[in-house]
Amino acid sequence: MSDVISFRKAQFLISAPSLHQCPEDNGCEVAFAGRSNAGKSSAINALTNNAKLARTSKTPGRTQLLNFFSLSEHCRLVDLPGYGFAKVSKALKKEWDQHLAEYLQQRQSLKGLVLLMDIRHPLQEYDWQMIRWACQSQMPVHLLLTKADKFNHGPAKAILLKVQRELSEAGFWDNISIQTFSSLKKTGLEELEGILQDWLAVGQDAPTD
Ligand code: GDP
Repeated sequence: MSDVISFRKAQFLISAPSLHQCPEDNGCEVAFAGRSNAGKSSAINALTNNAKLARTSKTPGRTQLLNFFSLSEHCRLVDLPGYGFAKVSKALKKEWDQHLAEYLQQRQSLKGLVLLMDIRHPLQEYDWQMIRWACQSQMPVHLLLTKADKFNHGPAKAILLKVQRELSEAGFWDNISIQTFSSLKKTGLEELEGILQDWLAVGQDAPTD
């Protein structure tokens, strides 16, 4: 039977600038992505209850492609830094794009992608790209509409439904779930944890080689 994962036990493992420098591709992991300022550090912080951990990914030198955190011996959380804040050349961004696509499409232990979008600016170009890459390899995607406290319940729900409609009109209805979330008010945390537990449980049950 699968263990329940405690996200509060997350510990920084390694920063990897490319697929080749990632930890061995066994066990299971879930990745978090989002444009910079989407609220990713705050969400990881709320989930793991560890402010130091979330800051880790913003430490110069660690703002690389993939930051790995261990949750248990075989489970990892992966932070894919939104590269809006990194002042890098177009050529380097293109190189990162290739590594990201490769990671999302080839990483066997990756069980799902959490994509964070500020509820006031959902479905920007970066988000579509991540959704396309993930869906091309049947990777489950869970969308977090962050900073939901900026709206009352009704308007927040209306945005959620609109995003769902746009996704479905664009042909994405399989393997995508969506919720509103607020790190500030700690709303949506249980729903997110439930999704992550499901993904990681499937990964733990699968044989590792
Ligand atoms: P990141 O760049 O995606 O890691 O985003 P951060 O977590 O650093 O958040 C970016 C900004 O949004 C900061 O000023 C946060 O205080 C703010 N923020 C993050 N989460 C929330 C939230 O749930 N509600 C509100 N109102 N602001 C938030």
